[in-house]
Amino acid sequence: GTQASLIDGKGFAAGLVQRVAAAAERLQQAHGVQPGLAVVIVGDDPASRIYVRNKGERTREAGMRSDTHTLPDTTTQAELLSLIAALNADAAIHGILVQLPLPAHINATAVLDAIDPDKDVDGFHVVNAGRLAVGLPGLVPCTPLGCSLLLKAELGDLSGLHAVVLGRSNIVGKPMAQLLLAENCTVTIAHSRTADLPSLCRSADILVAAVGRPEMVRGDWIKPGATVIDVGINRVPSRDPLKAAAGGTRVVGDVAFDEAVAVAGRITPVPGGVGPMTIACLLANTYAAACRSIGVAPEP
Ligand code: NDP
Repeated sequence: GTQASLIDGKGFAAGLVQRVAAAAERLQQAHGVQPGLAVVIVGDDPASRIYVRNKGERTREAGMRSDTHTLPDTTTQAELLSLIAALNADAAIHGILVQLPLPAHINATAVLDAIDPDKDVDGFHVVNAGRLAVGLPGLVPCTPLGCSLLLKAELGDLSGLHAVVLGRSNIVGKPMAQLLLAENCTVTIAHSRTADLPSLCRSADILVAAVGRPEMVRGDWIKPGATVIDVGINRVPSRDPLKAAAGGTRVVGDVAFDEAVAVAGRITPVPGGVGPMTIACLLANTYAAACRSIGVAPEP
């Protein structure tokens, strides 16, 4: 058969960042407001440090202000909450992101729910989850927002398509399902208790995999011609046994790409698919939050 076409998330994300940067520049020219993002990290998890440094660099490249607050892992919940309160009150900061995971002695939900919902650029606050569920404007979690933008760019109108979302987390699966429902898809949410995943997945026109299980979705789970969005980021041992023995790793998605690419119509690669869209959507959310803070409608 023919090979699926690759969905170029990296390229689409670069275009989105350019559009957001240009819109932010116009906002500053017209209203004197520079969008500002504060990123808070507690502790010294190396992966989290890299994510946070990346977010800061991308934010500055887009012409926005970026503040990083690096706190020791001995920080108390009360200290973290008082930093959040200060950032909520800071008119130069339009987006607040607390890097997860937090140390075990801090209640992450309490911290996330202390962020002003209108500055909650991760979209994890219960108020933003509620807004999404009832169709009010709000801040939408970046990863599912990025998936939705890719799907609309690739397929246009999604009305009437059957979308199967694998995974029901609050940060990916559930908001993904809400966004697809808002696009008039018929949505099925699957999870670890779902019966007969392979045949359910085979009924999907759009299959979004967000399970965190390396290469779980096999080629024969996919309807020929379907659009496959692979959210997974999983580290597995290198293919080369010598490198693997030395601790070498590679990144794979939740979909067995080599099998899927022979069946699907379109598919996101890992890396280079959904990943780059997440940070682009963080910038888009920060820009939108800055606009709304002064009562201006964000450019689309
Ligand atoms: P979670 O672990 O929070 O959720 C995983 C979901 O998958 C759960 O709903 C779980 O079901 C379900 N699941 C797990 N195992 C199975 C199985 N064998 N069969 C069916 N369903 C299963 O993960 P996240 O939602 O946070 O992340 C999902 C993936 O996306 C991860 O690989 C993560 O690294 C990646 N990710 C990528 C991002 C990006 O920027 N591209 C951003 C965020 C995440 P149940 O609820 O029943 O336990």
